[in-house]
Amino acid sequence: MKIYKFGGASISGIDRFKNTADIIQSAEKEKILIVVSAMGKTTNALEKVASAFYQNKKEEAIQLFTQIKDNHLNLVKYLTVTNWQAAENQLKDFFTEIEWLLHDQPVRNYDYYYDQIVCCGELLSSAILTHHLQERKIKATWIDARDLLRTDNNFRDAAIDWNTTTDKIKESIDPLFNQYDVIITQGFIGCTDENESTTLGREGSDYSAAIFANILDAESVTIWKDVDAVMSADPKKYPDASVISSLSFTEVIEMAYYGAQVIHPKTIKPLQNKNIPLYVKSFLNPALAGTVISKELNKGLPPIIVNKENQVMIQFKSKDFSFIEDKPIQQLHELFSQCKINPNLTQNTAISLLCCFDDNAEKIDALASAASEIFDVEIEKGLTLLTIRHYLPSTINALTENKHIILEQKTIQTIQMLMR
Ligand code: ASP
Ligand code: MG
Repeated sequence: MKIYKFGGASISGIDRFKNTADIIQSAEKEKILIVVSAMGKTTNALEKVASAFYQNKKEEAIQLFTQIKDNHLNLVKYLTVTNWQAAENQLKDFFTEIEWLLHDQPVRNYDYYYDQIVCCGELLSSAILTHHLQERKIKATWIDARDLLRTDNNFRDAAIDWNTTTDKIKESIDPLFNQYDVIITQGFIGCTDENESTTLGREGSDYSAAIFANILDAESVTIWKDVDAVMSADPKKYPDASVISSLSFTEVIEMAYYGAQVIHPKTIKPLQNKNIPLYVKSFLNPALAGTVISKELNKGLPPIIVNKENQVMIQFKSKDFSFIEDKPIQQLHELFSQCKINPNLTQNTAISLLCCFDDNAEKIDALASAASEIFDVEIEKGLTLLTIRHYLPSTINALTENKHIILEQKTIQTIQMLMR
């Protein structure tokens, strides 16, 4: 049994849906569990619905939701014939759930409503794909991931209850494969034991695929993306970027830690624990080999470049020159966790701590104002954090030419430079 995960870009319109169905169809005689994301930019659009609803702008929320409905209904028309009515009915059930909610007044916190609304993107896309596959006479069936993935109620970043999830997935999926070749479910979403929908964090569908793979002891996971493979750098910025044909789990965890947007960072652990290989392949060009991520350690990797723009450096200086002690450092770390912000790089000096963060204006303001009660705070914005794994002197030179480096850290494997 294999797992395929299709992201939003692979189903962002009629042709893309058909292309995805072609890929599934060509895996003839395989048992495949398919995890899909919401279509195109649907999750962003649903976020807008949730926030309008929460600001009591009911009309706006309903109007925004109507656009999303129309998009999906329109697709169904083109992707189904005999299944058209069944598909439309299924979508309408999901619409009704959301519309009921939108007619209420918000009384609980935002994150709760976010999850009840945003989860519908994956439900809709997976339903359409299922009906389209059935239309092609593929033995395919649909299952609601909320009946399988049990989570806590930490809405928008829910944690998996592995014991219950394992039982539920094993109970339901194995028997279904006796009857069907293809099972379609949703990424990103789960459910509490009180039947409330939850989400696992943005881009969480990769993680869902890894959970299914781990529990079902899948042979492999394939993530279908709009890139040829994992690259050594962003090819739009670095024309020298090269395809990396194989990577170890550990290397990918490191890359994700430094900010490479390869796959969702939580994805690796469940696969690594069961030694399940992960393929990253292009849905635009399925004949290409792509990248395999496995336990095999890499030799001779090219320099891997991760560029993070929009960085802010904050310098926290103690007002009484006491930074050498533990206490101010500890106070700062408490502030970071209060403000839910994590530094990407930190460096101590005798009287100050230098930290580099993503420029999330709201969080940075909150942090700066809280910290200024204890420290002198200096902020510099508009910086770039460049990380190079497996660096060579020539790569460093080429990438830092004409740049002003204001902070640098180096280990044997990795160099990081914060630049103006
Ligand atoms: N649809 C969700 C998102 O856009 C989950 C995913 O695509 O992985 O974040
Ligand atoms: Mg996505």
